[in-house]
Amino acid sequence: MTEHESGDRVTLEPGVPCRRCEHCKRGDYHLCEEVTFMATPPDDGAFAEYVAWPADFAYTLPETVSTRAGALCEPLSVGIHAARRGSVGVGDSVLISGGGPIGLLAMEAVRAAGATEVVLSDVVEAKLALAAERGADRTIDVREENLSEAVAEHTDGRGVDVVIEASGAPRAIASTVDAVRRGGTVVLIGLPGDGEVPIDTLAVIDDEIDVHGSFRYKNTYGAAVDLLAEGAVDVEGIIDFETSLEGIETAFRRARDPENVKGMLSIGEH
Ligand SMILES: [Zn+2]
Repeated sequence: MTEHESGDRVTLEPGVPCRRCEHCKRGDYHLCEEVTFMATPPDDGAFAEYVAWPADFAYTLPETVSTRAGALCEPLSVGIHAARRGSVGVGDSVLISGGGPIGLLAMEAVRAAGATEVVLSDVVEAKLALAAERGADRTIDVREENLSEAVAEHTDGRGVDVVIEASGAPRAIASTVDAVRRGGTVVLIGLPGDGEVPIDTLAVIDDEIDVHGSFRYKNTYGAAVDLLAEGAVDVEGIIDFETSLEGIETAFRRARDPENVKGMLSIGEH
């Protein structure tokens, strides 16, 4: 039973499943096909002053967690789920492919999971700079450097334990198998424009690479709030700009700029 009090600040998990289907009953509620998911047509999003939402999909924010950080529990959850899908553990090396909000927050999640070496690749200089500022041990501009060579150089020729592909770029997806070590794990989250992307299946077989899809998240919000409360992750640093509900059109235009990572809309007082 989830109890909230009037005036509590909460963060909303935007996908509410049917709770009755096979996936829900297995505990894989994120795979529910009858899910109501905010802002995924035909379901409305939350660009509104008031939203009614099931209490058990609303998580109270402790005083130490800001509303802005609370709003970022969603992309952080995608990162936490990807880290779990990749079984990222203590002392692991991880390549994050793509330095958008998901990639940057996946970096936070793998750090919290114990990864000690984090490499991040992208094609936008501003994103690489931000990743470096936020603690990436090595950044790779794949327009200038060969990804597998750079990763090999950084890992003494071994390759990383886990690759989290968050860019969706077909070339980046194809090169995940060149960056991961033998017996390592590749997690795919970035959505390519076309679902068919060639990948070296012989490498997958010969190197016994585990390739996992990662879809949204399940049971991550409690962890996300706890990580924020403990100061184990930093999320607010990815916000480039903030605007009110009235400025929504400009915000969407600004968000299209590849140099921008994340815009934030503030609604009402907080
Ligand atoms: Zn269901």
